[in-house]
Amino acid sequence: MIRINIATLFPAMCEAFLSESIIGRARKAGAVEIGCHDIRKYTLDKHRRVDDKPFGGGTGMVMQAQPIYDCVMSIIQEIGENARPRLIYMSPQGRKLNQQLVKELAEEDDLIILCGHYEGVDKRVLDELEFEEISVGDYVVTGGELPALMLTDAVCRLQPGVLPNEDAYSKESHYNGLLEYPQYTRPEEWRGRKVPEVLLSGHHENIRKWQEQQSLEVTREKRPDML
Ligand code: SAM
Repeated sequence: MIRINIATLFPAMCEAFLSESIIGRARKAGAVEIGCHDIRKYTLDKHRRVDDKPFGGGTGMVMQAQPIYDCVMSIIQEIGENARPRLIYMSPQGRKLNQQLVKELAEEDDLIILCGHYEGVDKRVLDELEFEEISVGDYVVTGGELPALMLTDAVCRLQPGVLPNEDAYSKESHYNGLLEYPQYTRPEEWRGRKVPEVLLSGHHENIRKWQEQQSLEVTREKRPDML
């Protein structure tokens, strides 16, 4: 079972998302183990500060190295000396997350994910702990929490026991390099728009062929770069 530990200044933000829906149920069922750790708990500052002004000037604050280091070391101690966690810093400067990388991360036993905030984190702690950087895209959000949650969600849904079966994710967009075919549900007709006849036929082989062909067509239309 994969263990994911998130180091953040806003653990409640992460917990709120990770306690709901499919991931929340998977945690309760013991299919995945996720911990949200408050970096502020590790500050040695008497005013509980965890950030300071950047050397060299500039707007915004930078998260200090010490509380991050102590938080991550405490997680490493907690998960055990023999664990070989992959240390990830969510960063707009990192390797871009895609389904291939998600599959790779899903094979790991332990992930520790660091969320930056404000202007980011003191580079020395990234170097000291040899974090790899992962980005959710070429844009900037205010903190690493949403990116960390996206990564965690994508990795968790590939774990055994999280989704009903392998089909639930292996037929979806990007898993095998194509986009998924269109989906329909009841009613059979809505505002004059009918569900494609073949889906109502009950003929499994024809349905499979239609889905395969639609998948190719949708990919060609929406993402020709993927073909
Ligand atoms: N000053 C940084 C820069 O220009 O590269 C951006 C800091 S950003 C406002 C604050 C935090 O949000 C970052 O430390 C990172 O953890 C997170 N973050 C922002 N955009 C991200 C992205 N595209 N992917 C992953 N994390 C991101």
